Amino acid sequence: MSRVIDFSVFSSIKIGTPIKVNVMREKEPLEKRFLVGGANNILLSPTPPPLVILGKEFDYIKEEDGILKIGGATKSGRIFSYCKKNNIGGLEFLGKLPGTLGGLVKMNAGMKSYEIFNSLVDITLFSGIYTKQTIEFGYRFTDITEPIFEATFEIKRGFDYRLLEEFTKMRKKQPKEPSAGSIFKNPDGDYAGRLIEAVGLKGEKVGGAMWSKVHANFLVNIGNASFTDAYSLIKEAKKRVFEEFGINMKEEIIILDN
Ligand SMILES: Cc1cc2nc3c(=O)[nH]c(=O)nc-3n(C[C@H](O)[C@H](O)[C@H](O)COP(=O)(O)OP(=O)(O)OC[C@H]3O[C@@H](n4cnc5c(N)ncnc54)[C@H](O)[C@@H]3O)c2cc1C
Repeated sequence: MSRVIDFSVFSSIKIGTPIKVNVMREKEPLEKRFLVGGANNILLSPTPPPLVILGKEFDYIKEEDGILKIGGATKSGRIFSYCKKNNIGGLEFLGKLPGTLGGLVKMNAGMKSYEIFNSLVDITLFSGIYTKQTIEFGYRFTDITEPIFEATFEIKRGFDYRLLEEFTKMRKKQPKEPSAGSIFKNPDGDYAGRLIEAVGLKGEKVGGAMWSKVHANFLVNIGNASFTDAYSLIKEAKKRVFEEFGINMKEEIIILDN
């Protein structure tokens, strides 16, 4: 099965074109396709590799034997609402972090020291079930290369409203225009936003793309930005930061070119 997704609407940065995407309705291997979740951390060229997405069969939340089982296609907002309603703690940041369960786990997404891996128990891939201890993970990184169909979490009672307030405050300091979150990972002991600002790129525009004036590590779409507009700003930031500071900034965003 396949469907056409218009990435200028679907992706959080609102860049892309309508593209035919395969839909996985049951567990299958990835083969030579790229798996899209909610496209909140992806920049898509007009000619990306073949794409695939999980079907609604993987959009669910169940509690079984004191364990929370969540399907790979389940959106962060739904998981957040479930946790709040059922007084479950540890995933409060999902109220302020867009994504699907699979994308969140693959990226080890999080805010401050709160990451999705903190309360993860195991994940279901095509090749089997893997406990957290067998997966390599770190800051916005995991070594997972297969589709994540399901993940399970410990149930810690006690939803923390104070934390939610903290995350809400953090979000107020971020740009309102469409973006894909942070473009670069923070280099050890520094901040990508500080470096982009230091090389004079904060507020810099190419076409409809701009390094945000509010937070320099956010690339925002201020109107009809193209892939080329966004990509040229990313390449320029990398180049200037390397020339001036000798730091090779690593992208957090996934750039899908052919
Ligand atoms: C405004 C804004 C703010 C953000 N703030 C933060 C933040 O504070 N912290 C943070 O960590 N992130 C942040 N992000 C980035 C984004 O929310 C996360 O990276 C999120 O995990 C992306 O999930 P997704 O489903 O949209 O994945 P996508 O963007 O679709 O894909 C990201 C990666 O996950 C993989 N993937 C997707 N689904 C699956 C699956 N089922 N199995 C295996 N791999 C899969 C993709 O192949 C790709 O490699 C922000 C984004 C935006 C737009």
